[in-house]
Amino acid sequence: MHRLSCKCGTVSGYIRNGSPSNRLRCYCTDCQAFGRFFGPAAGVLDQQGGTEIVQVSQSRLQIDTGLDQLACVRLTAKGLLRWYARCCNTPIGNTLANPRVSIVGLIHTCLDPATIDRDFGAVTAAVNTHTATGSTMPRQHRLLSTIGKFLVMSIADRISGRYRQSPLFSRAGSPVVEPRVLATEEVARLKTRNYDRR
Ligand SMILES: [Zn+2]
Ligand SMILES: [Zn+2]
Repeated sequence: MHRLSCKCGTVSGYIRNGSPSNRLRCYCTDCQAFGRFFGPAAGVLDQQGGTEIVQVSQSRLQIDTGLDQLACVRLTAKGLLRWYARCCNTPIGNTLANPRVSIVGLIHTCLDPATIDRDFGAVTAAVNTHTATGSTMPRQHRLLSTIGKFLVMSIADRISGRYRQSPLFSRAGSPVVEPRVLATEEVARLKTRNYDRR
């Protein structure tokens, strides 16, 4: 299993052993905006605006403490659910709003850097690289294998009924925290490359 924790330790749990999983860096402008939401000190984004993410089935996610500190925002009314720990503003991960596609993209800030290679492999895909920032652009790679494993995980969870075993959604399929949709102006600001939240 892989330990999961927010910075202050209030939200904690683990990811059960299992497979498959995806490890990737996403350079899309939405992930960049969510990264900037926490300010530069949070260290979510790399030099090129990438967010390191591990995608696993939500049924592998166990949250033992601090569930009441979970918060959730969306960049638009129909955007991804973007989860974080409000105790210390640590990004946790992204999910679709549809509970039947039960994958969570966990953000490196709540994972353990010492064991991430061991538990999820050292190979990291790079996606949405055309919107990367910085002087040298990363090259997109392993996109197809990432999509393939995403489909395998979500279909397997759907067939087995495991998609209902998520700490982020109730049995009835609604998110355990009411998502807050960010104001359009705030999202526009967060999408400005040099914007740092103070
Ligand atoms: Zn915390
Ligand atoms: Zn993204």
